[in-house]
Amino acid sequence: MKKNLDTICVQGGWKPKKGEPRVLPIYQSTTFKYDTSEQMARLFDLQDSGYFYTRLQNPTNDAVAAKIAELEGGVGCVLTSSGQAANFYAIFNICEAGSHFIAITGIYGGTFNLFGTTLRKLGIECTFVDPDATDEEIEAAFRDNTKCFFGETISNPGCNVFDIERFAKIAHRHGVPLIVDNTFATPINCRPFEWGADIVTHSTTKYMDGHATQVGGAVVDSGNFDWDAHSDKFSGLTTPDESYHGLTYTKEFGKMAFVTKLTAQLMRDLGSIPSPQNCFLLNLGLETLHLRMPRHVENAQKVAEWLQKHPKVAWVNYSGLQGDKYYELGQKYLPKGGCGVLAFGLKGTREDAIAFMDRLDFICIVTHVADARTCVLHPASHTHRQMTDEQLLEAGVRPDLIRLSVGIEALDDIIADLEQALK
Ligand SMILES: *Cc1c(COP(=O)(O)O)cnc(C)c1O
Repeated sequence: MKKNLDTICVQGGWKPKKGEPRVLPIYQSTTFKYDTSEQMARLFDLQDSGYFYTRLQNPTNDAVAAKIAELEGGVGCVLTSSGQAANFYAIFNICEAGSHFIAITGIYGGTFNLFGTTLRKLGIECTFVDPDATDEEIEAAFRDNTKCFFGETISNPGCNVFDIERFAKIAHRHGVPLIVDNTFATPINCRPFEWGADIVTHSTTKYMDGHATQVGGAVVDSGNFDWDAHSDKFSGLTTPDESYHGLTYTKEFGKMAFVTKLTAQLMRDLGSIPSPQNCFLLNLGLETLHLRMPRHVENAQKVAEWLQKHPKVAWVNYSGLQGDKYYELGQKYLPKGGCGVLAFGLKGTREDAIAFMDRLDFICIVTHVADARTCVLHPASHTHRQMTDEQLLEAGVRPDLIRLSVGIEALDDIIADLEQALK
C-alpha cells in the first residue's frame, strides 16, 4: 500500500512480526548467529541475504535506511557515519582514479574540500561550474571521462535553489547520473527523483535527526539510471567484480546494483557505518520530520520578512521572499517552502556582525545548522575563517553573510531576541 509521507515518517521501515517490539529495537551487536558453515558461506557469496556483520548490514540501520528510501521514493538506501561519508561514497561508487565529475559552486564547504582537494589526491578530478552559467558553458565542462554531476537542492550556506530538472537533462544528455544533496529541503519539501535526479544524498545530522544528537548520512538510489546503457563509463557496475568471485552488479541485482555495490564493496573495504544506537536516534527524529519542517518554514518565512524590513539589515536570502533571486525556482521545487535556514547581511562591517551575534540571548552561536533550536554562524569568522574576503567571494560566501537557522521555538521569542541584539 502506497502511503503518504507523514505516515512513512511515523511508520516506515520497522514492521514488527508477532511478539516483536513495537518500537524499533537497537541491535547493538556486531555479529549474527548461523547454524551451519554452509549458511554463512552463502551469505558471503551474496547468494542469500541475511545479517552476518554490522559493518555490512544491521537490522536497526536497515530499518531506518528503508524508511529514508521510502520517503525519497527510491529503491534502496545505505546509511553512513556522516554526511561527508555519504557524499564520498556516492561519488566513489562510480568514480575511480582517472575519472572526472562536475559540481556546482556554492555548495557546502566540507563537500567543496572533499571534491576539490581530497578526491584530487585519489586521482578523481572535479570541475566546479556556476549554476547561473548558460547550458553551453556548462556542457563545455563535460569530458569523455566525466562520470556524474552534483548539486544541492538548497545550498549551505548561500540558500541557493538548484534547478534539478534542468541539470538532470544536461547530465542525461551526456550519459551520466545527477546526484543531489537533499539535506536542507528533506523529502518533506522536495523529492529530487520526481525531477529527474538519479541519486540523493543526505547529512542526516541536520533536519532528519532534528535534535542535534547524532552525525550521520544517507545515499539513496532511484534505480532509474541505466548503467548498462553507458557501460563504458560505469564498468565497476557492469563488468565482473573480481573481489566478489566475478559477480556483475547490474546483472545480479538490476535496480539494486548501485546500493549493493556500495554496501558489498565500499562498506566492506572502507567502513564508515553508523552505530545502531545512532540510527535509533535518527529514527526518533524522522518520526516527527513532517511536523517540524512546516514549522521551520513558517518561522523562517516570518523572520525573513521581518529582517528584510529592519533598517540595520542590508540584505536577506530566502527563497520564500518575493523578489529573491531564487523565488521562482523555490515556487517550482519547494512549493511547501524550503527550510528554516536563511542568510542575511547587516549594514556595517564584519565586526558589526560579530557584535550582533555575541549579543544574542537564547539564539546560540554553534557550528551546526538545521535543528529544533535557533542558531547562528558567521562563516567568515568560523567555518571559513582562514579565507580572505576575495577567497570568500570566489567560494560564493559573502564576507558579511550571517547564516541563521530558524528553529521551532515561538516566533515572537525568536524575533524579540534578534531585535534586542540588533538594537
Ligand atoms: C552538514 C552537511 C554535510 C556534511 O554532513 P556531516 O553530517 O556534517 O558530515 C553535507 N552536505 C550538506 C548540505 C550539509 O549541510
